[in-house]
Amino acid sequence: MSLHIETPLIKSQPLSLASSCSAWLKLEALQPPGSFKIRGIGAACEYYIQKGAKRLISSSGGNAGMAVAYAGRFLSVPVTVVVPETTTERAKELLKQEGANVIIHGASWHEANELAMSMLEENDAFIHPFDDPLVWEGHATMIDEVAESGLQLDAIVLSVGGGGLLCGVVEGLLRNQLDPVPVIAVETEGAESFHKSQLAGKIVNLESISSVASSLGAKQICNRAFQISRDHQIISVVVSDKSALIACEKFLNDHRILVEPACGAALALAYDRSPVLDKFDNILFIVCGGATATIDQIRQWLAMYLNVET
Ligand SMILES: *Cc1c(COP(=O)(O)O)cnc(C)c1O
Repeated sequence: MSLHIETPLIKSQPLSLASSCSAWLKLEALQPPGSFKIRGIGAACEYYIQKGAKRLISSSGGNAGMAVAYAGRFLSVPVTVVVPETTTERAKELLKQEGANVIIHGASWHEANELAMSMLEENDAFIHPFDDPLVWEGHATMIDEVAESGLQLDAIVLSVGGGGLLCGVVEGLLRNQLDPVPVIAVETEGAESFHKSQLAGKIVNLESISSVASSLGAKQICNRAFQISRDHQIISVVVSDKSALIACEKFLNDHRILVEPACGAALALAYDRSPVLDKFDNILFIVCGGATATIDQIRQWLAMYLNVET
């Protein structure tokens, strides 16, 4: 039995009406630890444990850390997650709920990651949130499920942080002979490391992240994601935090599922009736999910953008 579940693939009437296309949803938000990350990270954890790992280490206070904690609990292997002081109480609580040993260290992810690296002992496996072929292979299973359904796709919309999801989806397209299907890669303003790299023709390192979509906050995409931006048809789109937040709120009303702004970014293309979607009919939205946001926090951020008092 794998750590991830096969998720529903549904046609969304509200998103279809909003976008004037046939909007299909792959509901990765329904994965037990809250996001698609368990597909790739679960597979990587299983692999390293089979190779003898006795402890799993992560430096992600987000959904990647959640997936490692979940995998470790299921596979009865201890998990240590080192997170920076900026990590929300909610994220720390969720990690502890999954039984992880949570160490809080440093002002930013950089310092937390350094401590995590310095802790590595012989039988430890460090689980990278996005830059590992095992992770991409695991993420690709979501496209296996779509291919199995027989749905004919014209485009896929997904969000990009470090690019692991993108690499996995493209791998899934390749291994199911669906590779001509274009991918629309969405980021928020202030986290657009893929967009800038595609424009520059080389990997660009963002100086800082200024978006509320913390799960998209990789300063730099992985090499494989950059290579894909050249070899595959990838349409890069950047949306505002406000659009992403409004999409979260609308999606909660429409489908009764709460997602993070990182996921709202992809859904915003439908709700904003983005012209990028115009030339496609059947469009698959990867509803990547996210466990770290609460509706109160999303509304607080939204109020900030709408200049309404909280
Ligand atoms: C990790 C994550 C992303 C981005 O995935 P990458 O593999 O880093 O590109 C998007 N949305 C959510 C909810 C995530 O957890």
